[in-house]
Amino acid sequence: MIVMKFGGTSVQGAAAMRQVAQIVRSRVARRPAVVVSAMSGVTDALTRCAQEAHQGHEQEALRQLELLTERHLITSNELIQDPSHQRPLHDAIEKHVQEIQLLLRGLALLGELTPRSLDAVMAYGERLSSLLLVAALRARQLKAEWVDAREWMITDDQFTRANPLMELCETRARELMSPLIKKGKIPVTQGFLGATQDGRTTTLGRGGSDYSAAVLGALLDAEEIEIWTDVDGVMTADPRIVPEAHTISELSYAEAAELAYFGAKVLHPKTILPAIERNIPLRILNTFSPGKTGTRIVRQVCNDGRTVKAITAITGLSLVTVEGRGMLGVPGIAAKVFTAVARESVNVLMISQSSSEQSICFVVETSSAGQALKALHEVFELELVRRNIDRIEAQEGVAIVAVVGAGMRGTPGIGAKVFGALGKGQINVISVAQGSSEHNLSLVVREEDASRAIREIHREFQLGRRA
Ligand code: ASP
Ligand code: MG
Repeated sequence: MIVMKFGGTSVQGAAAMRQVAQIVRSRVARRPAVVVSAMSGVTDALTRCAQEAHQGHEQEALRQLELLTERHLITSNELIQDPSHQRPLHDAIEKHVQEIQLLLRGLALLGELTPRSLDAVMAYGERLSSLLLVAALRARQLKAEWVDAREWMITDDQFTRANPLMELCETRARELMSPLIKKGKIPVTQGFLGATQDGRTTTLGRGGSDYSAAVLGALLDAEEIEIWTDVDGVMTADPRIVPEAHTISELSYAEAAELAYFGAKVLHPKTILPAIERNIPLRILNTFSPGKTGTRIVRQVCNDGRTVKAITAITGLSLVTVEGRGMLGVPGIAAKVFTAVARESVNVLMISQSSSEQSICFVVETSSAGQALKALHEVFELELVRRNIDRIEAQEGVAIVAVVGAGMRGTPGIGAKVFGALGKGQINVISVAQGSSEHNLSLVVREEDASRAIREIHREFQLGRRA
């Protein structure tokens, strides 16, 4: 069997849903189970409704809900012409909407919005879209069966970022879905949401539908997990920056994780973990261009002679430097630096220390640089007075350019090529780091140089030429 996950844009309206039905039809022989996101923008809209209600703006919340309801009803009318089929679908939508209204009134009355109540509201997006999708599939003679995700996605009670309890999920998913699949039916279930063991609705965190799909694929031992979205796959670089960028046909799990970490629009590493653990290939495909082969993500990629596969960048960063001659040979400075920063819950994206040990630098989001500096000044108060540390400062407006590819491992000369390209482009490299996995070479450059750096490296490695 396979799992097919359709994202928000893939179900954004009737035309898209018809397209999805076509695609599912083309996969019937592979015995699919379908996981679906909310229609695009709906989770955001539901969140806004909840916030309006909790701030006491009940009318505004209900007005926004009205708009959402309209959108679903219009889509259902466009999908299904036969009034006798339309009626039950309308009723189901209305029933859900009434429940949301009750919740919003409750929030307005209480004037509070807990993660638990937010989950209760947000989870309606997928429930509504899945109702519509089942109808769209059935209208095309596909034997779709609606399966409530709360029956199989059993999670802990960390509302808004719940974790699946895999063993329970496994039993339930198999009980619920295997018989359907055996009978030639197509289970259609919601991504993103689940329930605690005692039945309270949870969500897995924003964008969590991919995670749901990977979990389901792992539980049902899928041959493949297809992630249907609105792009052709993972690209060698952002095509807005590099016009000759193109889709990468195959990536390893590790490469995909590096790219995601450095801001490329790929699957979140946590998302694909269940698939990695069971060695299930994933494929990213475009709902609006289903003939393309997309990007396959597998454990081991076949060697196509490419070293660097993709280049990506994150901007809006600051480089924090802790410097001092007195740091030489003093143990524990690094520990102290990162403990202080971690205590402030500041996320560190890259670390570099030259072996002269005279400075440690690391990169954080600019929005948290102030916090990091303050924490460092506090813990190193004494060292600063004694001049063991001379300088703690942050340089704003930097970017990390990440050069990613498993083939870089053990291949000499990659660094030389990267720096050669940057040298030709007169781009100054502020700091460098390479993990010992050698899958990733990260460079800190000034933000205004980032796009040019990506283009220079992309050209140097001839990534515009198909493998
Ligand atoms: N609908 C949810 C969100 O927008 C989950 C998802 O789309 O993956 O975050
Ligand atoms: Mg989404």
